[in-house]
Amino acid sequence: MTTETHGHPIFSWPPKPREIATVLFGFPGLLWPWPALYLAVAVLQWWAIGASVFEGDVSPIAFVELFAVNLLALVTFVLAFHYFLYVRRTQGLKYKYSRQWPEKHNRRFIYANELLEGVFLSCGSAVGVWTVYTFALLWMYHNQMLPGAGTDTNLFWSAVTFLLFPFWANVHFYFTHRWLHGRVLGKFHRVHHKAKDISPWSGLSMHPVEHLIYFSAVPIFVLIVPTHPVLMIYFMVASALGPTTLHHGFAAIKLGKGRTMMTDHYHHYLHHQFGQANFGATNLVPLDLWLKTDYQTMQQRKSKAPVEGLETT
Ligand SMILES: [Zn+2]
Ligand SMILES: [Zn+2]
Repeated sequence: MTTETHGHPIFSWPPKPREIATVLFGFPGLLWPWPALYLAVAVLQWWAIGASVFEGDVSPIAFVELFAVNLLALVTFVLAFHYFLYVRRTQGLKYKYSRQWPEKHNRRFIYANELLEGVFLSCGSAVGVWTVYTFALLWMYHNQMLPGAGTDTNLFWSAVTFLLFPFWANVHFYFTHRWLHGRVLGKFHRVHHKAKDISPWSGLSMHPVEHLIYFSAVPIFVLIVPTHPVLMIYFMVASALGPTTLHHGFAAIKLGKGRTMMTDHYHHYLHHQFGQANFGATNLVPLDLWLKTDYQTMQQRKSKAPVEGLETT
């Protein structure tokens, strides 16, 4: 089903220029289509409300406006996947990892409904944490408390931070995710793992504590790396919308006229199926391979000796 490899061409040695170019400019790649779309959303948000918060408007109305534009972006994006893939089912089960559709009645979920729980947690807690972090960081920019406070940060450096963030986000996700599978935080992460057969609304279906941890990748990054405020908003948008592209449950999306777009996230699908393996969101930084927590290695180890804790939490 999957075409995903365990390594990543970016880290191949000797370097493979053609593969690296594909990672950068491919469809999908590090620039197109999702990052370009997220950047467009970030620019619109900056224009709608971000710039005035950056200039010092930290009134409750400005916060509500920021919450509203975040909510609008999230609902529009997730609904597009949900409507075409799960309501109209435009491609049926073609490329779907599981033959199942989300459960409609199961008491494990809030309102006994998987979809409603995903909508509730995404639109409430996730958008709330996303908004609080963005609002607080814009206030810090205004008060010259961040290294990228000047909006005149040079273009070359902005391009570097634009490309650097996905690598950092991968590393942050891997280690915080392993932490979330530990004894202390496991009870919070269990909320995200209720969904075995993932769907678009599963992406941000997390406990509020996990939202605080998950979105912290952006504040940590901009506290250390000088970042243009519009790029900070872009990183937040990418963090908020990205989980949908990781959880919609299809290896590829049919675009019409026989064209398909690979959207492979089999790596994370297996994580939802089997629990203690594949902690990385993607293999952009193949930490699962390097730290031997990828599903294949875990299975090989399991076949030699029982692996404790390989539970489907
Ligand atoms: Zn997990
Ligand atoms: Zn997940």
